[in-house]
Amino acid sequence: MYQDIAPHIYDNHYHPCPPSAGDIILGYEDNQILMKEDGTFLHYEECRREHSFQYLFAIDQIHFYLSDLSEEDAMQKVSYRAMRTYEPSDLAFAAVTGWQLYQWYRDQKYCGKCGEEMHPDTAERAMRCPKCGNLVYPKIMPAVIVGIRNEKGQILLTKYANRPYTKFALVAGFAEIGETIEETVKREVKEETDLDVTDLTFYKSQPWSFSSTLLFGFWAHADSHQPIIMDDGELKEAGWYDRDVNVDNLDQASLTAEMIRMYKKGRD
Ligand SMILES: [Zn+2]
Repeated sequence: MYQDIAPHIYDNHYHPCPPSAGDIILGYEDNQILMKEDGTFLHYEECRREHSFQYLFAIDQIHFYLSDLSEEDAMQKVSYRAMRTYEPSDLAFAAVTGWQLYQWYRDQKYCGKCGEEMHPDTAERAMRCPKCGNLVYPKIMPAVIVGIRNEKGQILLTKYANRPYTKFALVAGFAEIGETIEETVKREVKEETDLDVTDLTFYKSQPWSFSSTLLFGFWAHADSHQPIIMDDGELKEAGWYDRDVNVDNLDQASLTAEMIRMYKKGRD
């Protein structure tokens, strides 16, 4: 999955320090990442303009910073989605994680409580209001991915309606306020397919910065005699498939793809 960057080590301790040679400067414009024309990332020593730098995180000994690179020469814009397949994968992970933080910093300019301009806190990865003391932390939305099997050993695969992602997927959805993550699983499956699921087992989690999400992957059981009634607003396809189902071009990035792959290998 895209966060599996070993032997590299992601260090998200917040210890702001000034950039130095070799550090990477990440710049964004909405859904675009600013990269050099050769498709690589800008290093600190390559900056030609004056910038302010917001410390983000480190991978191994390299520190990553957020900056406004719109004035830098010879940069190209690349969609954040391209990072699903970009190599090296540790830099793809850094670019998407940085994009989540970019959006969050961009959207926290003013205090939601009193309207004053917010500033990055010096001790934590947070924005602080100098007037009323309001402290705002990065937005991470919990969500579930559910691999549902029936008594025949089949899996429930879906396709989204009205989304750019057109491949097979699993039932998925965001947690709502006041529910456990297990209740999220049951509610989302019920809403999207009308199935009742039992025997939930947690598989793995995944930080999914493409949607500011922390994903929780679960396996669950549903009786195949229940009729599938699709939520047409969410899905255009939902049905039971055998292990030999043809799932073309599953990516290496997502928890969904890994769970479908595990099922196909009989390792679910
Ligand atoms: Zn305030």
